[in-house]
Amino acid sequence: MSDDFIPPAKPLIGDDERAAVDRVLRSGQVAGGPEVAAFEAEFAKELVDGRECVAVNSGTSGLHLGLLAAGIGPGDEVIVPSFTFAATANSVALTGATPVFADIELTHFCLDPDDVAARVTSRTKAIMPVHLFGHPADMSALGAVAEKHGLMLFEDAAQAHGATYDGRQVGGFGRFAMFSLYPTKNMTSGEGGMVACEDAQLSRQVRLLRNQGMERQYANEVIGLNNRMTDIHAAIGRVQLGRLPGWNDTRRRNAAFLDEHLEGVIVPAVAATATHVYHQYTVRVPEGRDEMVRRLREDFNVGSGVYYPIPNHRLESLAAFAPGLDLPATEQAAREVLSLPVHPSLSADDLERIVTAVNAIAGAGA
Ligand SMILES: *Cc1c(COP(=O)(O)O)cnc(C)c1O
Repeated sequence: MSDDFIPPAKPLIGDDERAAVDRVLRSGQVAGGPEVAAFEAEFAKELVDGRECVAVNSGTSGLHLGLLAAGIGPGDEVIVPSFTFAATANSVALTGATPVFADIELTHFCLDPDDVAARVTSRTKAIMPVHLFGHPADMSALGAVAEKHGLMLFEDAAQAHGATYDGRQVGGFGRFAMFSLYPTKNMTSGEGGMVACEDAQLSRQVRLLRNQGMERQYANEVIGLNNRMTDIHAAIGRVQLGRLPGWNDTRRRNAAFLDEHLEGVIVPAVAATATHVYHQYTVRVPEGRDEMVRRLREDFNVGSGVYYPIPNHRLESLAAFAPGLDLPATEQAAREVLSLPVHPSLSADDLERIVTAVNAIAGAGA
């Protein structure tokens, strides 16, 4: 058994991606060429039941433009989880609107629909759940809250390419959904993001905002940004899109092995209505989480991650939006979560080593 370091994540980039980049570079058309449109069409077909997709230069740009296109701005409130990457709330704040943090449920680490309902005010415009770690948020309960109060629903699907809820792919529920294509996500374009849109009016607005507000050159209709994806990145993304289903299957097989063999930690649950794509395989360690992270690395050469150690509502950058806020389940998750390697390049030996390491540390601590 090898003792090489097992990294917590590993982007898989191969000869096909290199050939695709070479093809674009040789074509001379590295921006504004045919690759971006092809990637958008293929992503729409494979991942969001044909909803129109707009490619952008990062997931964060995708959230920002989706929110702007949906009309979110100063005076508005958008309910988001605090237990997520800061990009979720950052994008709301960047529009001039106020992110309102709601608590999560500890079973899947996603927004708690009851807590969301309790935070609706006359200024609330939308709810933006995160399908955290690749498990869908409770879209039927959140949809019911949205409908009752006349709110829009957006999806931060940055971590959930290919996940399903009630037999439907995530990304098809909200007014818009964003997928990140950062290297550690389930598929990558280098940097990049994809915005899946509910209708043509919204997708046109995202396209305008992506490109300085222009559809026709130099006839700028609205104030926009330059958040375009290059053809080089799109070419990488197209190859990765083809690999995604196989990689997600491997992630699920790896997760099933860990589910079966891990002891002394709380393994991730999957809702009966959901398929999980295990962007992260996140367990709860009620006692001694930080010690487990240290010993995994020092004694067993196994990498792991804590996503996320500080909830958004306590970050220096965002705390001003949430004075005195207490989110008990969010705080508990931040203390207890530990993400173990689950990526598709793990070998059978790697998986055995992860199990041996966790069980030894959890057993010793008991
Ligand atoms: C990665 C991520 C983002 C941002 O995506 P980038 O492509 O890194 O800009 C937003 N939300 C969540 C939950 C993420 O994991």
